[in-house]
Amino acid sequence: MLEILFKTTCKHDKVTLSMKAGYCPDCGDYVENHWYISRCECCGFKQKSFVRFGRVITDAKFCKNCGSNAFIYEELDNLDIVSVNYAVSLKRVVAARRKNVIQTWIEQNSYTPIKLLPAF
Ligand SMILES: [Zn+2]
Ligand SMILES: [Zn+2]
Repeated sequence: MLEILFKTTCKHDKVTLSMKAGYCPDCGDYVENHWYISRCECCGFKQKSFVRFGRVITDAKFCKNCGSNAFIYEELDNLDIVSVNYAVSLKRVVAARRKNVIQTWIEQNSYTPIKLLPAF
């Protein structure tokens, strides 16, 4: 139980932001690093943002430049020097753990004894 708890809360810290993607050495998930930037939908002004519960959220409720409260979130292909102060990173698990695949197979096999149920 403790092990499961640990796995689901893995932050994949060892998949460092310098790499685009890789297997997490702690839990075995394949993790991709994504970079996002938020802008004002109205004037395009870049907004400071952060990640909460796996979502990108802007720091301010209203744009400092034009007062709009509509923001758009863009994914960056490459992190450039202009965006680095505004970009936030988000780790996304791409492939399921190998172990889970094996477990599914075991579960499927365990269904076969149904044939052995007594007939009336
Ligand atoms: Zn991990
Ligand atoms: Zn604006």
